[in-house]
Amino acid sequence: MTNLTHLTIAQALDGLQKKDFTATELTQAHIGAMEQTRGLNAYITETPDLALKQAAESDKRRATGKAGTLDGIPLAIKDLFCTDGVQTTAASHILEGFIPRYESTVTANLLRDGAVFLGKTNLDEFAMGSSNMTSYFGNVINPWKRTGDDTDLVPGGSSGGSVAAVAARAAMGATGTDTGGSIRQPAGFTGIVGLKPTYGRCSRWGVVAFASSLDHPGPFARTVKDTALLLNSMAGYDPKDSTSANLPVPDYTKALSGDIRGLRIGIPKEYRVDGMPDEIEKLWQKGIEWLKAAGAVPVEISLPHTKYALPAYYIIAPAEASSNLARYDGVRYGLRVEGDNLTEMYEHTRAKGFGSEVKRRIMIGTYVLSAGYYDAFYVKAQKMRRLITEDFTKAFEVCDAILTPTAPSEAFAIGEKQDDPVTMYLNDVFTVASNLAGIPAISVPAGLGAQGLPLGLQIMGRMWDEETVLRVGAVLENAAGFSALPQGIAKAA
Ligand code: GLN
Repeated sequence: MTNLTHLTIAQALDGLQKKDFTATELTQAHIGAMEQTRGLNAYITETPDLALKQAAESDKRRATGKAGTLDGIPLAIKDLFCTDGVQTTAASHILEGFIPRYESTVTANLLRDGAVFLGKTNLDEFAMGSSNMTSYFGNVINPWKRTGDDTDLVPGGSSGGSVAAVAARAAMGATGTDTGGSIRQPAGFTGIVGLKPTYGRCSRWGVVAFASSLDHPGPFARTVKDTALLLNSMAGYDPKDSTSANLPVPDYTKALSGDIRGLRIGIPKEYRVDGMPDEIEKLWQKGIEWLKAAGAVPVEISLPHTKYALPAYYIIAPAEASSNLARYDGVRYGLRVEGDNLTEMYEHTRAKGFGSEVKRRIMIGTYVLSAGYYDAFYVKAQKMRRLITEDFTKAFEVCDAILTPTAPSEAFAIGEKQDDPVTMYLNDVFTVASNLAGIPAISVPAGLGAQGLPLGLQIMGRMWDEETVLRVGAVLENAAGFSALPQGIAKAA
């Protein structure tokens, strides 16, 4: 029974169905793993009692033949998703102690299907970051270490707690959100799978807003199949989100046929960026070979406006954030710091409640939206967004999916890149364009770099075509045969 935490979701569902173990036993094993890996700081709030209660209910449902598609599966929830009766902080001091009285649609969908929630995971404050260093609740430590080197590394961000928990076997899967790369980059840094679905596929209702036109909720798991299982549950039309798409949700596990013969795989020449480590370039080439060997046809494509994606993102995302974060005023949610009058109370609350990265974004956002600068920055960025989207539309006339590396580096050390926001922003160079365009994209663990750290490859697809993204992802996963475990975890197994 000791290895329950090493099962995939698909294997665990099978074991539950065959009565090899109960949801309570599975949950207990994960609560144990959560406690043993506390040093990673992956969870902000652990909810073991709630998890055991949900697991007991799951066991009852299974005994009466009423089990849902994820019944009894222990998951971790990024602390950006509002959970009824459970503190939701967005990793910000300003929301500390906020207990929502409602459940986000995505988490409600998972609960409807029987999932068990272990707790709320750490993230960069308001999901702003690429290293999970900006959390008010402290940074998260990547369960992976460089070979022969004990330096603590970042798990990536912003969904750093979710990926650390899944990689460390302290959850079977997790929810994340991806505004500029926050699902795919941390998945790449920790050797797990992360999928950003099409914009509008998973409801944003009840997810604390960062940049509404770019925020994409999505799943993490250790295999592509598990990711598909989670997406089956999380996706779907939600009238409470005006940008939710009223489209049927296919069974994504059916897409994993392994057959990609004749599929055209676009290789964008603009993704060869200066200073990218050789091993990432090599892995990308390997990825092309793997897909070719499976019968796909690589085609060179051009996404000419790629170089404008980061600048456009770092105007649009802060602009929307500055507007979204205006609601934190000490009146309606979380922290209040008194002052002599109302204006002072607002000022004190926001000065104390927000960390420096969040303040930087609010200032940039307010600036680019201000009269006089709106046309020069915001309107221009929106035009670039349009051109970037058109690049993809044109590319998908000649290819069915696009293969790139997930990130331009492997996991870096805690504190590295921290004093230079622009270097930090470069982490998203391969991921932001698909957020601007709203297209689906997955990161799949594809190998270990020279230092023994995981590296991911990314597949992007057409709007609403998560199926091709998952199918190609599964072929890559299979060819890569990634089976390495984080050092500390390997020892315990
Ligand atoms: N790293 C990017 C940022 O800081 C993306 C974050 C995200 O996707 N939530 O904005």
